[in-house]
Amino acid sequence: MIQALINNKWESINDNNLLLGTDTFSFGTGLYETFRTLEWKPIFLEPHLDRLFNSAKIINIKIHYSRSQILEMIQEVILNFKDPNQRVRILAVPENFIIYTSQLNLDPKIYEGVSALTVSANRETPDVKTTNYKVCLKAWEKANDSGCFESIFLDGDGVVLEGSRSNVFWIKDGKIITRENNVLPGITRQILILRSPFPISFGLLYQSNFSDIDELFITNSGSGVIPITKVNSEKIGTGGVGSITTELLRLYNQWLHENC
Ligand code: PMP
Repeated sequence: MIQALINNKWESINDNNLLLGTDTFSFGTGLYETFRTLEWKPIFLEPHLDRLFNSAKIINIKIHYSRSQILEMIQEVILNFKDPNQRVRILAVPENFIIYTSQLNLDPKIYEGVSALTVSANRETPDVKTTNYKVCLKAWEKANDSGCFESIFLDGDGVVLEGSRSNVFWIKDGKIITRENNVLPGITRQILILRSPFPISFGLLYQSNFSDIDELFITNSGSGVIPITKVNSEKIGTGGVGSITTELLRLYNQWLHENC
């Protein structure tokens, strides 16, 4: 059981009822947002709320609270939790607005490079973060079962879309590239595009071109920038974390601290 703020009241709820993408998830189709805290302060919260309100319009979900009420609720949930570094989840589902938090358990080893595998799959509404999470969960479990950190979705033409819980960036000849369309407009992706000192452009990466790129990394709000050094047992670049990814990792960490 965990404590969650449900429609602005504290309630105990079974963890299984909140597991997106499983048969025990107890709510209808809606939206969710996940962000982290640092020392009890939410990181890049404003763009997460912008995305929540924009997406609610797109899929016609009514959010019965104002932005300032939501900010107050979030504050209450964060301050009520013992750990300073948290992963906070907002669920906006029919009839229920739920906020809960948990410890952010980041393994520092992931920043030394992780492996990924590719799967042919896509999300139904790629630009919206909906609770229809089965495809992502299945892909992530497949990665996990193979000892990989992430699954990278490929479209029907074998072109990279995004990760099951992340956006994908690659570097070739000093240029950083990410896919423009048919992916979630990730908040971390957006922060990088706005703030990276190295220009980031949009493009396509064919599965057959993994062997030609120099660096590869993924982004999400929980873990930030994560280098990928191997895809489907094939080394990326030299097989180590490249210099541009290393610099972006350093900068992202700095931005996190400045945001507090
Ligand atoms: N794509 C998908 C499918 C995701 O689930 C996530 C994680 N929310 C992302 C991209 C990254 O988005 P963000 O940076 O907003 O966490």
